[in-house]
Amino acid sequence: GSTVGILGGGQLGRMMANAGSAMGYRFIALDPTLDAPCGQVSEQIVAAYDDRDAARELASRADVITYEFENVDAGVAAMLMEESYVPQGSELLYTTQHRLREKRAIEAAGVKVAPYCEVASADELRAGVAKFGLPCVLKTATGGYDGKGQWVIRDEAEIDEAFHTLNRAGMELVLEQFIKFEKELSVIAARSPQGEIRTFPAAENIHVDNILHLSIVPARADKEVQREAERLAARIAEGLGAVGLIAVELFLTEGGELYVNELAPRPHNSGHYTMEACRTSQFEQHVRAICGLPLGDTALLTPVVMVNVLGEHMEPLLARMAEVDEAADRLGVAPKVHLYGKQEAKHKRKMGHVNVLTADVDAALAWISETNIWRA
Ligand code: ATP
Ligand code: MG
Ligand code: MG
Repeated sequence: GSTVGILGGGQLGRMMANAGSAMGYRFIALDPTLDAPCGQVSEQIVAAYDDRDAARELASRADVITYEFENVDAGVAAMLMEESYVPQGSELLYTTQHRLREKRAIEAAGVKVAPYCEVASADELRAGVAKFGLPCVLKTATGGYDGKGQWVIRDEAEIDEAFHTLNRAGMELVLEQFIKFEKELSVIAARSPQGEIRTFPAAENIHVDNILHLSIVPARADKEVQREAERLAARIAEGLGAVGLIAVELFLTEGGELYVNELAPRPHNSGHYTMEACRTSQFEQHVRAICGLPLGDTALLTPVVMVNVLGEHMEPLLARMAEVDEAADRLGVAPKVHLYGKQEAKHKRKMGHVNVLTADVDAALAWISETNIWRA
């Protein structure tokens, strides 16, 4: 069998390795953390992500290389391209590592993003705020996640502080118009090296403190809006020449308009619902795409609500398993618990998720609130 090398050894790598192992592949992950989530189910090279010698070792031991996060060092990416087979290439990484490049690529694919401008000084920020109106969102062009590296400007008095705080290390900044969305949706698309594209059903995403809390599928939006979101994701996968998965986060306005927020060139938290709810999971689909197999059927087998298990949810979840099962029987839902093998249950840290399979998403939402595990 072939060996897949993964840059990164977190939960996305772990679930990729689990799905790929069931298809006969071996996995080896490069990650600096001892006993990383992926390292527990595959081989692991323990080294920094930008360690060229470690990357060279990964290249020599794997037949195919992929990654589970987008901030791959450009030098390492170039080296891997030279020494191994990286079907996803480095272009998609280069584009999605930087919000301005990403937005330009989305627009070039014929898809709308929120109005934006580059901001290099407090005066340019003032001009941008005058153009877009308040509120608006200032973001670092690189490195942000879970809402870190962004500032929602609600008052002109915040302009100087917002600029100087985010620009601290000379970071490039992007200003976006605030989209008064009714819902946030996401669609995961897969593209093979031959150009075959498949999309998963659109998810409706609910965030708490900028961290994904729930994904509800089918999304509670018009069927036509769901299909349009899926078409836009396919257009982006095609336009960017993606290989493997690309996750597309969107805003849906009350008027039914869709704007793309951002992309991720990898499996996505909002696609974890596919593990039990779709014919093919996002992880299997990614392995198929990068290993040159035909893409799998993405049909939804059952409605589902995915709820994230953060550090603070671990104790109540483990303590109340029996009651939780009782509530599931009573409400007619089937919760499937996934944990990632992380040792320390730090506050807000992603420790696992539960896919609540259901005939009726309201019953799944009732189960989530009745369990009292996810109290606000
Ligand atoms: P992630 O963890 O998803 O990578 P991130 O730090 O890259 O997050 P974004 O996805 O850009 O951040 O923004 C986080 C959240 O902030 C969005 O899901 C959305 O709720 C809100 N948000 C971001 N940009 C806008 C905008 N232009 N208008 C309205 N809300 C926004
Ligand atoms: Mg992001
Ligand atoms: Mg996001």
